[in-house]
Amino acid sequence: MARTTHEAPGCTAIVVGAGMAGLLAARALSEHVDSVVVLERDALSPTPRARRGVPQGRHAHVLLAAGQQVLERWFPGLTGDLVDRGAIAVDTRDLVWHQGGGYRARCDLGRPTLAMTRPLLETTVRQRLLRQCAGVTVVDRTPVDGPVVEDGRVVGVAIGFQEMRADLVVDCSGRSTQMLSALAREGFPEPDVSAIRIDMAYRTRVVERHDGTIDGSVAVAIDDPRQGHRMGVALPVEHDRWIVTLGSFHGDPAPTDPASFEDAARALPAPELAAVLASGDAQGTVQRYRMPTSRRRHVERAGRVAPGFVVLGDAVCSFNPVYGQGMTSAALQALALGECVGRFGPASDRLPATFYRRAARVVDVPWRIAAGGDFADPRTTGAKSTGTDLTNRFLERVFRACHSSPAVARQTQRVQNLLDPPSSLLRPDRLLRILLADRRGGAAERRSAVGVPPREPSVAPPQSVDRHAAELHRRMVLR
Ligand SMILES: Cc1cc2nc3c(=O)[nH]c(=O)nc-3n(C[C@H](O)[C@H](O)[C@H](O)COP(=O)(O)OP(=O)(O)OC[C@H]3O[C@@H](n4cnc5c(N)ncnc54)[C@H](O)[C@@H]3O)c2cc1C
Repeated sequence: MARTTHEAPGCTAIVVGAGMAGLLAARALSEHVDSVVVLERDALSPTPRARRGVPQGRHAHVLLAAGQQVLERWFPGLTGDLVDRGAIAVDTRDLVWHQGGGYRARCDLGRPTLAMTRPLLETTVRQRLLRQCAGVTVVDRTPVDGPVVEDGRVVGVAIGFQEMRADLVVDCSGRSTQMLSALAREGFPEPDVSAIRIDMAYRTRVVERHDGTIDGSVAVAIDDPRQGHRMGVALPVEHDRWIVTLGSFHGDPAPTDPASFEDAARALPAPELAAVLASGDAQGTVQRYRMPTSRRRHVERAGRVAPGFVVLGDAVCSFNPVYGQGMTSAALQALALGECVGRFGPASDRLPATFYRRAARVVDVPWRIAAGGDFADPRTTGAKSTGTDLTNRFLERVFRACHSSPAVARQTQRVQNLLDPPSSLLRPDRLLRILLADRRGGAAERRSAVGVPPREPSVAPPQSVDRHAAELHRRMVLR
């Protein structure tokens, strides 16, 4: 049966998938394209709710500082909106982080970090996008079957027996995208894949939150990939809840029955997560998620790319989620897309290859951090870059130095938040500090046996772009 064709007037783009990458790509395109239609397979709810197409949304999600900056730039006042809806502005000095055998010195990144559920973030961003960008439409319950290719160019997408045409199709349909294999059937080579076997399993439980559960702290991360232990994170989220995630690698996932889940939390190398679990009643059942591999599709290396089409987000690179990089990497890729579309126009044949080169540079840093870190566990297998072992030996020293030096902890956190490149740790004065602090490591380890290190005095006033968030931040600090 022939397809019916829909064509919007003016310069147009279709985005496949209304996850974080799709929403941010639409925001980037809205500055250069008259009409952007986001097509989403799931039914979307106006109230934050976990959904089938984003199963990871039931697990703890951290938005790194670099991602928060992009979001604040694109949606001025978003921080205030999120806080109004219950997100918690966490002072970075209140983050309790146990890693590499000790607590990190508490340090100030100079701005609060926001803790909330992933559905709250996604719903708020979607609603802001629609309110702010008149040319953007989101159409839910619309599964895209694949790209429509004519004369060697992507001219739109197929939806059942219909076709929707546009100057540019942006694939943000996530890790399991089918669009690239559909294009391979049309003669465009499928990109090479780097895969790293991590056998990651997440288990997550939500519990009621009461003030003062953990003395002076409002977010907890316990993490030691080098030792092959389970990791854990507890984030305070909207509606007075904690979201508590236990992760494991290469087998031995945390059990899902409540008592054994709590036992697994108690077996972590620091007691805070178990204290959180014991502090309030559980809500709902333990949720599961498995990810066998971290995976990167090297679209930038494909010899011939389809004009009229680009792909970004998890469809290009899905990282080990422990590093919390996926949404920020998607935001930075969307930023690069906006710049390339602004320069070449959405229909330009030069757009895809130029964008892929730019996006590859964006993805390189978080991929090196995550993939490199994964190889600290000797059970990890897969595409390992030269120099990974050397870097990991250096990072072991850095993490040890973080136990006693707030300055090293702060710089490490800036790198992990994608605010500074990893090479910033190699500046001579910082190297010296790392080496000196590493030598003090033994003493710090002894201190860590006693408890959480003291809070660093603030190095800078909070730089939240939003007064509301700054005020909330002040209240959180004083509480
Ligand atoms: C367990 C886990 C924890 C994570 N924790 C963090 C974290 O702490 N911090 C962080 O930054 N990142 C985290 N991530 C990664 C983060 O979730 C993603 O990187 C981010 O959501 C961007 O994904 P995306 O939008 O590219 O894809 P997705 O989130 O997978 O969204 C894809 C969208 O496309 C839709 N779709 C799929 N196929 C079609 C189709 N054919 N037609 C129409 N629509 C379609 C889906 O329904 C979905 O809405 C985590 C990931 C996992 C798995």
